[in-house]
Amino acid sequence: NKKPLGNPQNTIEVLQKYDFVFQKKFGQNFLIDTHVLDKIVDGAEITEEDVVLEIGPGIGTLTQHLAERAKKVIAVEIDKKLIPILEDTLNDYNNVTILNDDILKVDINKLVEEENAGQPIKVVANLPYYITTPIIMGLFEDKIPIKSITVMVQKEVAERMKSGPGSKDYGALSLAVQYYATPYIVANVPPNCFMPRPKIGSSVIRLTKYQNPPIYVVNEKLLFAIIRASFNQRRKTLINGLNNAAVVPLSKEELLLSIKSLGRGESIRGEALTLEEFASLSNDIDERIK
Ligand code: SAM
Repeated sequence: NKKPLGNPQNTIEVLQKYDFVFQKKFGQNFLIDTHVLDKIVDGAEITEEDVVLEIGPGIGTLTQHLAERAKKVIAVEIDKKLIPILEDTLNDYNNVTILNDDILKVDINKLVEEENAGQPIKVVANLPYYITTPIIMGLFEDKIPIKSITVMVQKEVAERMKSGPGSKDYGALSLAVQYYATPYIVANVPPNCFMPRPKIGSSVIRLTKYQNPPIYVVNEKLLFAIIRASFNQRRKTLINGLNNAAVVPLSKEELLLSIKSLGRGESIRGEALTLEEFASLSNDIDERIK
């Protein structure tokens, strides 16, 4: 009686049975393509040892696939109208817990403590695009124990997350993500894989978190302030970007000394620096402030 939802027919049947009305404010576009669902679960590298946090299960389409592979799935859904539907579509799985909550208000550290004794979990999500980046950054910055995050994002956002120096997509988001994780594009997903269809193309990206930071940074706050200031004014030189943003209490001359410590000069732009260089710059500036 395990009826797979990952095809248009079964999805329509469930939606009609419950007279479900799509809520724009919750960014509801449900997956209706089994190939994409398989790719997500494969891409997330889910095994029977994993406890998975799924954010935004919808009618439980992806949840079913996750539950087939994982030890346990905790699914957090904001829309209370979906809860009876989820209880129905996931009825045959005894390893799924459904929580009716706004993920932005959930104490995820506490949840991981309760559900997996504080051991790292895997996060999988197909979420509204406008909250995806804050959620990802929140998971990293709040030091939630996670192995990886596999998420559906706008295609352009996936490009930005995995870009390096020299690419037009390289920016503060690339550096923020790559400071914490290794990005890998799992799949590109066209609009016809969803119901209703979104207007834009999507990609599934997996961010595998470093269990130990790959670079040494004395002051993370300062690093990210420097990165933001460097990309605020794209066409400006690094020195002017830092000087104008006034995030660093140093004179222009002292800033230049810091930039020179990288073996770079006055004309260098922020978008040319690697993450390692931003880290060295930040450590050097930190020394000079003290
Ligand atoms: N995972 C399902 C799928 O792939 O078919 C549904 C994806 S749909 C794009 C996004 C889901 O996230 C919706 O079910 C929506 O109600 C839910 N959602 C939106 N904002 C949320 C929030 N802040 N916390 C938890 N769930 C949320």
